[in-house]
Amino acid sequence: MINEQMYAYGAQKSSIREIAAWGAARAAQIGAENVFDFSLGNPSVPAPPQVNEAIVRALALPPTELHGYTPAAGLPACREAVATSLNRRFGTGYGPGDVFMTVGAAASLSCTFKAVVNPGDEVIVIAPYFPEYRVWIETSGATCVEVPADPVTFDLDVDAVAAALTARTKAVVVNSPNNPVGVVYGTETLTRLAVALEEAERTFDTSIYLVSDEPYREIVYGAEVPWVPGVYGRTVVCYSYSKSLSLPGERIGWVLVPDTNPDHDELVDAVAGAARALGFVCAPSLFQRVIVDCVDVPADVAAYAENRALLCEGLKALGYEYVEPQGAFYLWVKALDPDAQAFFERAREFELLPVPSDSFGCGGWVRVGYCVSRDTIERSMAAWEALAKSYR
Ligand code: PLP
Repeated sequence: MINEQMYAYGAQKSSIREIAAWGAARAAQIGAENVFDFSLGNPSVPAPPQVNEAIVRALALPPTELHGYTPAAGLPACREAVATSLNRRFGTGYGPGDVFMTVGAAASLSCTFKAVVNPGDEVIVIAPYFPEYRVWIETSGATCVEVPADPVTFDLDVDAVAAALTARTKAVVVNSPNNPVGVVYGTETLTRLAVALEEAERTFDTSIYLVSDEPYREIVYGAEVPWVPGVYGRTVVCYSYSKSLSLPGERIGWVLVPDTNPDHDELVDAVAGAARALGFVCAPSLFQRVIVDCVDVPADVAAYAENRALLCEGLKALGYEYVEPQGAFYLWVKALDPDAQAFFERAREFELLPVPSDSFGCGGWVRVGYCVSRDTIERSMAAWEALAKSYR
């Protein structure tokens, strides 16, 4: 008599993690250098040295202070540092009260959905999408509604979103730079989305939140990432340092409730309530202190930029089609078989481990994570070539 929904999430497992586990087992059999695992979004760039320096400084604190509970929403100094950094970058006027520290973007998103959703609501995601969205949306009590991205560019298809908005739509999730396709949504696209959401709010007499999931904001290759609350007021921003500072195992991020939200004060309390209900209060104390010191440390994207160029050039020369990534560290490659799962199985025979697009709610493609060593990309090229040849 346990909870069936939770049982199903646990028993199904994440297909990305299953592939990574298979890769690890295979590496133990034939040597890690012979397996080309492109499955996980685990940063290959080390955390910047300032992180370790901040940790050493924090270790000088009395242990009861360092390891003690922080306030539920986080240390005032940490929330202040985040707000001040955002204000400097985006010309905003946020305060520490607008920021809630969390255990990574996973918690930021879970809290945000829980904070805004009522039973029977719908939350729109743009397919292909990060698969955990569905778990968090359904757990909040909403239905996850998939709206396809543009099938060629994989940009946000505003008309498709507009057509999917109903009286039950409570939120739309945007993720830019995007996992898995690497697209960055431009101001013009976001502005059209904002107009569509405002129109639907008037038509249905409802409130629709834009949930902006931004763990890859700083990982871009020349593209500018618009500040979403500047385009649409009813936006909640979910962020994490998992990618920008290469700290995925430390579980640190935040939710921002911008002052542009008409129901700002209630929403701040609802996020706090959701964090309380879900058990996501008091984000790791040591890493809140690290963020105070490292909030403005730039992300090191040089290695990803190199990997991106290497992978794109290599696969292009072999005749593969892909979406030119503007950000994040994934290449969205067209499968050589209409059945992406079948293509993945064939790739695996060549020790290549991308993620089939079915995992992201769309067919016919694979995601190749280039947050790996340069050497892995270089040595994988013979396998990509053999894979392509096997289809000729
Ligand atoms: N959102 C997207 C688009 C992601 O790719 C990830 C992680 O890969 C997350 C959210 C979750 O991030 P975190 O590890 O900070 O919980």
